[in-house]
Amino acid sequence: MLDIKRLRRDFPILSSRVHGRSLVYFDNAATTQKPKAVIDALTRYYKTTNANVHRGSHSLSNRATAQFEAARETVAAFINATASHEVIWTRGTTEGMNLVAQTLGPYALNKDDTVLVTTMEHHANIVPWQQLCQRVGAKLIPAPLRGDQTLDLKAYEALLDEHTPKIVSLCHVSNTLGVINPIETCIALAKQRGAYTVIDGAQAVAHLPVDVQKLDCDFYLFSGHKCFGPTGIGVVWGRSTLLESLEPWQFGGEMIKTVSFSGSTFNDLPFKFEAGTPPISEAIALATTLDYLTNQDREALHQHEQNLRAQAIALLQDMDGITIYAPNSENAGVLSFNVAGLHHQDLALMLDEAGIAVRSGHHCTMPLMESLGIDGTVRASFSIYNTVDEVRYFANTLIEIVTQLR
Ligand code: PLP
Repeated sequence: MLDIKRLRRDFPILSSRVHGRSLVYFDNAATTQKPKAVIDALTRYYKTTNANVHRGSHSLSNRATAQFEAARETVAAFINATASHEVIWTRGTTEGMNLVAQTLGPYALNKDDTVLVTTMEHHANIVPWQQLCQRVGAKLIPAPLRGDQTLDLKAYEALLDEHTPKIVSLCHVSNTLGVINPIETCIALAKQRGAYTVIDGAQAVAHLPVDVQKLDCDFYLFSGHKCFGPTGIGVVWGRSTLLESLEPWQFGGEMIKTVSFSGSTFNDLPFKFEAGTPPISEAIALATTLDYLTNQDREALHQHEQNLRAQAIALLQDMDGITIYAPNSENAGVLSFNVAGLHHQDLALMLDEAGIAVRSGHHCTMPLMESLGIDGTVRASFSIYNTVDEVRYFANTLIEIVTQLR
């Protein structure tokens, strides 16, 4: 049995008050809150360990390096990578996607080739590819959604056949809709046509177990801050045979073996993709985060998040003028909606007055907004520590706001 009340005590910020009301935090797709264990891991590192890594001629540096590399092992185990040198630290998914576009791009893509994404992608999984395609003279093509705002698998497969893309890059979970894509199928179909597969897992890791070997993709990316970890840390997992073949993308200290004015040689994996001082405390605290998650009943928490969404839909679906996006999708706990005649930003501001944090706007998915013929939505994104009582309070408050505004 899940004890959400107890779990909430792990997250100190949840007892905050906003505008005199108890905080109801439904902006988890933007960033999640942090358990005390993670906050403690950050302060402990600075109190007891702080030193630069891989430059060890003293004990603190050796201790920092050991913890930092142990964190890499933790990530590798968490996503079932075959080896920790397949785990590359980045600042987040955005930096990771730039890394992949700038290293896999020149290796795999030539003039007139195609990169396939979907209409529901975050800008972080569009703009790096768009820039690459513009440089190379290649095409970026989006796979469309169906009328129910889920991926149109038939159209996706038809585009694979029509264009034989060299690279397919898809989100595991949509940040705006919460839709869970059938990525195992998508990856298998893309691989049958010889494409490299890149998965944007930014919204997935907090909700779903990830096994990169089972998925059989070439790259999987995520951000620490979206799965209860610190900001400033992210992961690119890549297949080591492929990573070995790619050229580095940023240059400087740590990523080199030798430097002279006649030329430089580059370090082994994973360091060849990690120029400069890495996010050390953040990596160590991310490992604490993943240990925290591993110790939870993740299947039960996923059910809990789905139940929160189902309750919200049940309470709001009959509201006059409401449009709920992807209502029947397999979903990671996101309720994206609009109310006819009312602006999403006004609704979000009035919800904030009641202590309820949601996000409004295009959610960094402008092409998705365009395809839906809207300029934004209100997005309530639920997480493991949210409660049915909070969902009821949110639904009642929204109904009151809408009645007041009409
Ligand atoms: N991809 C998706 C699906 C996201 O939701 C986000 C952030 O909202 C990103 C990529 C970018 O992540 P970050 O801002 O942590 O780099």
